[in-house]
Order: sequence, then C-alpha cells, then structure tokens
Amino acid sequence: MSSTEEYPDEVRAHTALHVIKGAVVRVLGEDALWTASTYVSGKHGRLTVKFNRKPTPEEVKAIEELANKKIEEDLPIEVKVLPREEAEETYGNVIYDLYPVPQEVRTLYITIIYDKDGNIWNINACNKQHTKTTKYVGKVKLGKVRFRASKQLLEIPFDVEP
Ligand SMILES: [Zn+2]
Repeated sequence: MSSTEEYPDEVRAHTALHVIKGAVVRVLGEDALWTASTYVSGKHGRLTVKFNRKPTPEEVKAIEELANKKIEEDLPIEVKVLPREEAEETYGNVIYDLYPVPQEVRTLYITIIYDKDGNIWNINACNKQHTKTTKYVGKVKLGKVRFRASKQLLEIPFDVEP
C-alpha cells in the first residue's frame, strides 16, 4: 500500500490545507495570516484567506512548489489537546482563524506541523483528522486563484494527487 492510500482522500485534502496555508504565509507574507474559510470534498479543497490583492502567477507557482517541498520533506504533524488559556498563552492568536472559536469551547485541539528546523510550519486550532506526517498528502496542484476585492478575500483551490 502506498502512503497516499493509507488515509481517506478528505483527510489528505484537509491536511493539505494546513501545508498550503504555511506556504501562503511564507510567500505572501503576514498580510495573508488569517484564514477566512476552508472547504474540502474528496480530493478537492479550497483555502480562503484574508488578503489585499491578487497574487501574481509566479507567487501562486511559488506557493504550490513550497507546499510540495514540505510534503516531500515528510514533516511531522502533532496534535496537542490543551486548555484554551494555556494554548493562547503558549502560542498566541496565531492558533485562530478569522472567525473566533466560540467562547464556550474550553479545550482546543492544536494541530502543529513542525518544519525541518524544528520551527512551526503551521499551527491551527483544529479538531479534524490529519495524516501523521505530510508525505501522506501526496502532491498538491493549485487551481486558478480568485481574489474578491470587495471582501478582500483570496480563494485558493487545490486538488491532492494521486
Ligand atoms: Zn485541520
């Protein structure tokens, strides 16, 4: 069984969201830090981040290449279950997306992808299922990005392969 067959497509595509988000922030900078929404269906997914312009084709290519590099590097993915206060104190607001986790949620599942050098590649309060390392994602192929200027939202569609 090859590595990409070990997880359902949706788990691979969901995990890809985290890997791609890390690449988006490295390529586009801190202005792209806030995730507005995510969507996954089968091998297809879409990451939507708050941003202020349409990226160039070169930037989109760079995001795709960097995401695939991090998949090939087979980075470890760890989930820490922490009281909300402790998670916020340790990691700060970077664990959150644009829209807040409801206050009544007191325990957070902090999903962390560690980069080769031990630094955090991506961190997010997320209680969904992920692959144990990034190689199980397979490969990501980005689609045509869409920038919605009125909402300042950048939509990045993708598919996981094979
Ligand atoms: Zn997740």
